[in-house]
Amino acid sequence: CGIVAAVSGSNALPILVQGLQRLEYRGYDSCGVAVHTSAGLVRSRSTARVAELRAQVQADGLVAGTGIAHTRWATHGAPAEHNAHPHFSHGPGSLAAVAQQPARVALVHNGIIENHEELRAELQAQGYAFASQTDTEVIVHLIDALYQGDLLAAVRAAVARLHGAYAIAVLHQAEPERVVGARAGSPLVLGVGAADAPGAAHYLASDAMALAGVTDQIVYLSEGDVVDLRLGSYQIFAGSGQLLGAAERPLRTVQ
Ligand code: GLU
Repeated sequence: CGIVAAVSGSNALPILVQGLQRLEYRGYDSCGVAVHTSAGLVRSRSTARVAELRAQVQADGLVAGTGIAHTRWATHGAPAEHNAHPHFSHGPGSLAAVAQQPARVALVHNGIIENHEELRAELQAQGYAFASQTDTEVIVHLIDALYQGDLLAAVRAAVARLHGAYAIAVLHQAEPERVVGARAGSPLVLGVGAADAPGAAHYLASDAMALAGVTDQIVYLSEGDVVDLRLGSYQIFAGSGQLLGAAERPLRTVQ
């Protein structure tokens, strides 16, 4: 339903949570956030309001520059904390075994994956255990299965396998100042932080409104685009893999 993501040199949690609050009016049944910390990928999820998530994150003393956040409107799998996004992949292994392993990939998703059953069967055959009933969880394990040291390449290879509608934002444990996003059939925008802001932060959101008061510099991503956000820089690629510049994906000032 709603996505907010950030790569910044200062604490991004207030922006992530406030962004979710700006998307609350669309309706949702659960919400969550995942961030990079010195202890690895950490997440917090709630079936209550975003205000509860905010309190949870504050109580945990969570501080991080890079993260992804989501409000979920369930399409596959009941509204429940274990189905709330972000979803994690800890790699292949039984649920009991992977619970002892650090999370490798974290992902939020808007939309519906039509071929989730086929992909789930394929991933289960590779040893991945599923912790949720969502269509979304196939994407996070697929990215893990395809990862060879470069999150952008893994996301590109994974989205090539998806049928359906998606906007996604993805973190990899081994790449702490990076968020990769992609969209097809669901909206996603890139928010470009002020060049003089600390760390020149960049953002993703399912609606520019989520970034109101954070940045008014927006790039509207097109169907099939993949975007690579790093601290202080970003690159946008067409589905074909072609690197796109300001001529193809202009920066717009929104009100
Ligand atoms: N299909 C996904 C799910 O049910 C995403 C729903 C959404 O867009 O919020 O978890």
